[in-house]
Amino acid sequence: MKITLFGVRGSFPVPGKETFRYGGNTSSLCIEFNDKDFVIIDAGTGIRNLGNYLIKKEEGLSDINILFTHTHWDHIMGIPFFAPIYSGGAKIHMFGPSSNDEQSLKDIILSQLEHKYFPVSAHELTAEVTQNQLSETSFELLGAKISTIRLNHPCVTLGYRIEYKNNTLVTVFDHEPYHHTIFLDDGTAQILEGNSPLSSFKKLNDRLMNFIEGADIAIMDSQYTKNEYFNGKQGYGHSYYEYTLWLAKEAKIKKVVLFHHDPVRTDAQLDVIAKSIENNIVENSYQFEALLAREGMEIII
Ligand SMILES: [Zn+2]
Ligand SMILES: [Zn+2]
Repeated sequence: MKITLFGVRGSFPVPGKETFRYGGNTSSLCIEFNDKDFVIIDAGTGIRNLGNYLIKKEEGLSDINILFTHTHWDHIMGIPFFAPIYSGGAKIHMFGPSSNDEQSLKDIILSQLEHKYFPVSAHELTAEVTQNQLSETSFELLGAKISTIRLNHPCVTLGYRIEYKNNTLVTVFDHEPYHHTIFLDDGTAQILEGNSPLSSFKKLNDRLMNFIEGADIAIMDSQYTKNEYFNGKQGYGHSYYEYTLWLAKEAKIKKVVLFHHDPVRTDAQLDVIAKSIENNIVENSYQFEALLAREGMEIII
């Protein structure tokens, strides 16, 4: 499997001279199983470059599978600029959860293509778009086994486990630890106090731990530091990197990629965080490798 990160930023795109090394585009990654088979995860602004990469690589795009973690804007906003949707003969298969009962996954995503927002409307697309609405499930796609798990975020959100020829990739974003906060189905956050959470919600944390266990690569939410998280960021649906490293250790992950950087973070600040991650790994004697996600990063397993 070759994994390329085309967008690593959380919440909002932040291009500019202070973010160019880690990258300003929002979530989008490509997982290539071989020369022709691939899946995309999420369609943040990074999917624009991903689409150009696919077009350069292949003549006549046919089937394109996009797995959506959820429909928050930073994970879908690149769709109108994903060139293959304008390619006749391309078939775009969208997989993922819908975030409400009234609209399907496809309707939510394509609702960005209306003349009031964008010059092209959804019914003018030349590519064929289909959808497979997912909840917690497991299925085969292109010879890979794909499983999903519900995450803790203020919108129905799925983590993915992708197994292909003895290699495993998992994604855990966007997600907040159940120990401290739990989101109700209407998206409101309940911030947990006292001792009860550790026992009451251990089951949910353990369930996630089992789901990701033993993965070769885990791409995981680490938007905040512990200090930021406990000083006003609880209930936003994101993790802090100290927790993410601990979760990776408990789940026996081989390599963790810390992902979904806060949009306020400059390259210089991310360098400082990279250093504290190194220290955290040494102090805790963690035996795995941890990398801060960077746009353009390629990982081969
Ligand atoms: Zn996000
Ligand atoms: Zn989100």
